[in-house]
Amino acid sequence: MTDIPVYQNFINGEFAPTPKNTIDVHNPANGNLLSRVPESETGEVEHAIAAAKAAQTGWAAKPAIERAGYLRKIATKIRENADELAKVITLEQGKILSLARVEVDFTADYLDYMAEWARRIEGEIITSDRVGENIFLFRKPVGVVAGILPWNFPFFLIARKMAPALITGNTIVIKPSEETPNNCFEFTKLVAETDLPPGVFNVVCGSGAQVGSTLTSHAGIDLISFTGSVETGARIMAAAAPNITKLNLELGGKAPAIVLADADIDLAVTAIKNSRVINSGQVCNCAERVYVDASVADQFIDKITKAMAMTTYGDPIARPDVDMGPLVNRIGLDKVAAMVETARAAGGTITTGGKIAELGQGFHYQPTVIADCRSDMEIMRKEVFGAVLPIQVVSGLDEAITCANASEYGLTSSIFTKNLSFALQAVNQLNFGETYVNRENFEAMQGYHAGVRKSGIGGADGKHGLYEYTHTHVAYIQT
Ligand code: NAD
Repeated sequence: MTDIPVYQNFINGEFAPTPKNTIDVHNPANGNLLSRVPESETGEVEHAIAAAKAAQTGWAAKPAIERAGYLRKIATKIRENADELAKVITLEQGKILSLARVEVDFTADYLDYMAEWARRIEGEIITSDRVGENIFLFRKPVGVVAGILPWNFPFFLIARKMAPALITGNTIVIKPSEETPNNCFEFTKLVAETDLPPGVFNVVCGSGAQVGSTLTSHAGIDLISFTGSVETGARIMAAAAPNITKLNLELGGKAPAIVLADADIDLAVTAIKNSRVINSGQVCNCAERVYVDASVADQFIDKITKAMAMTTYGDPIARPDVDMGPLVNRIGLDKVAAMVETARAAGGTITTGGKIAELGQGFHYQPTVIADCRSDMEIMRKEVFGAVLPIQVVSGLDEAITCANASEYGLTSSIFTKNLSFALQAVNQLNFGETYVNRENFEAMQGYHAGVRKSGIGGADGKHGLYEYTHTHVAYIQT
């Protein structure tokens, strides 16, 4: 029997002693125990925050181009170890290897992209009302960032938080999801091989209730950058309130996909199917509900049903050719199954799938299409983290937009049409942070990934995401 690895926290440039209390990490495809990771104690979290605080001034004082050099070194190491890292992600999270590899490559590119900002971070000089005065706006780091990660793109999310934080002069304490921490520790091993100054990047692992709440209620944290569920986001807001800690919240979604009468139906089917199947349907921004025009509804439902039915699934290591792996855990699987049953009972028609897959092991749910859905059904309103696609028939664009906007979420949306006027009307009237026209939902690192309503506060990526990690300091200089 092979030894089960026990990972250690990374604080102040060193791996901490072997943890006293640990959490077991399992492979969702077969239940095998993969590792043990720390359930960190409060003192360790405080130690990490103190180390990040102590390092921050010196780090911010370095020229940004020097800070960029460290991000580039880490990116290079990630590329050198890409295959091994992809396998670690697949084993603990369940996504197929090719997607894990995309995640690893994207992460390295993201570190390089954020490094490019070193020479582009700008302040402003504003005309004054007073003679002989200049008004300067400086962009300054906020200080110590707590980066709290979900499990669905766990490796990329490290970089999405660390790279903008570090390039702008902040230091960071990362808490990976306890579901998928191994890839974060492998990332950390690569960081430890560089000469990144101690305290700039720290990792403390553990449950949300223990480690997450210690981080988010701590006065030493200047910005909480969180990606995860709406429920946890609300708890974090409450924990941050006594210290008035700045928040960046990337929360859940329920992305509508609108298919108009003039749409290229084959394109819409392929894009929506790919969007729903990627990462076994566990993606915040992917198509989660369809509003299809009545005139093309039968054709669309027929084609998407066939496309979803052809989607293959299984253990992504044992069968590298499958389109989908398992869901991340039993809780996720049971939740998807319950939501489909509720939709069926409320009048939804299952045109394919609709059951937990009987593969003998792993948390697999059949790719599922549900027709005859209505706006009042839970499946059209609540986030479903699985390859389940509910469809509602509508009459034209206005009704589609009204239905799409009637949601507590506002992350992403998409529309399929050949008419530019319809596309622009949708962009103008959809109350969402992102809209994709005639393509699958997948953001670019130079864009801006952000939601409105319960999908979050602030955003990530590009210039606007970068500046979330700064505060603006104004100086009135009278000469
Ligand atoms: P989750 O909210 O259950 O957990 C996310 C992280 O928060 C974990 O590290 C967890 O340990 C921690 N946590 C839990 N309770 C906490 C607390 N009280 N205080 C501090 N931290 C706490 O989310 P998840 O299940 O890991 O991820 C799935 C969710 O993330 C989905 O809703 C998905 O839509 C969302 N998500 C959003 C985006 C985006 O960019 N908007 C991206 C990916 C995932």
